[in-house]
Amino acid sequence: MGSSLPPALTDLALEDYKALAELPHAKRFSPKQIRSWVLERGARDFEAMTDLSKSLREQLAQGWRVRRGSLERVHPSRDGTTGILTRLEDGQLIESVSIPEGDRRTLCLSSQVGCAVACRFCASGLDGVIRNLTSGEILEQILLARELAPESPLTNYVFMGSGEPTHNMREVRKAIGVMNHPEGLAIGARRITVSTIGHPEALAALSEDDIPFNIALSLHAPNDAAREALMPGLGRSQLRETLKSAQARFEKTGRRITAEVVVLAGINDTVEVAQEFAELLGGLNVVVNLIPWNAVQDIDLSSPAPERVEAMANTLRTRGLAATIRRPRGRDVGVACGQLRRHAQRNEP
Ligand code: SF4
Repeated sequence: MGSSLPPALTDLALEDYKALAELPHAKRFSPKQIRSWVLERGARDFEAMTDLSKSLREQLAQGWRVRRGSLERVHPSRDGTTGILTRLEDGQLIESVSIPEGDRRTLCLSSQVGCAVACRFCASGLDGVIRNLTSGEILEQILLARELAPESPLTNYVFMGSGEPTHNMREVRKAIGVMNHPEGLAIGARRITVSTIGHPEALAALSEDDIPFNIALSLHAPNDAAREALMPGLGRSQLRETLKSAQARFEKTGRRITAEVVVLAGINDTVEVAQEFAELLGGLNVVVNLIPWNAVQDIDLSSPAPERVEAMANTLRTRGLAATIRRPRGRDVGVACGQLRRHAQRNEP
């Protein structure tokens, strides 16, 4: 992608801004001012950075860019959920979803274009993975969503859009570093969630991070064979090891683990499956989030009946586990993982 273009400021780690102090017309506090313009104030060009001297702005413009993916489509849904489709500079499309709930507004972020895990129920994985996003492309999803709805501030951030975050660990961790730091976007760690398939080594690597963000494990099935069938790009499922790593992280950070289960009619929507989950998860500090599947075009699966999901939640609760059911959101505009991108690629409304 655009290798002849100057680097984008959004791709910098916070400490890298310091190098900008070396520019001939820069002052000691220039890096801080520039960082604030890019991240806090969301400036779109150097002209907007009015407290920098004109000569510094000109120098910056020669060596750097203020990049923002271009807005391709916005899909507002009746329930307030908004799908945001962004075109990156190499022409690829990614989506973010803004989800209001009470006084919270959660932004669902993508970490890759496409996804290699290819879960059978997900549109993002239908064409495999195209490429990783850079940390800047991750952060720009936040800047763009802020710009689009300045009146309703974002409160929570989840890496649950397209991509498996641990397949792009370096850039995701770099982005979280900027998100969390007081001189970056100053988002508290408890407001950031990384949703992952949870390979044990990847969880161990995430645990090395000093930032105690939340982890959500995409389990979907209560045993390795069923998981591998549902998530063909997962590789070998090692549920016991995954849970051991997750529990170790809980002990380190005190952050309770969420286990996510996308519920599909005729596949994992039975009380027996709930019982198997209870066996697997008993004794761990975990809350099970049951997510009734949203119908996706081109995928031959069905949404579960609400009473079956309810029965699963009750079974889990009877066995002493915390269980929640996620309300389907954005259904009327097809705002489910990867769908906007597919519609746009085919020029569909
Ligand atoms: S559900 Fe998540 S992990 Fe599975 S294919 Fe979609 S984006 Fe990838």
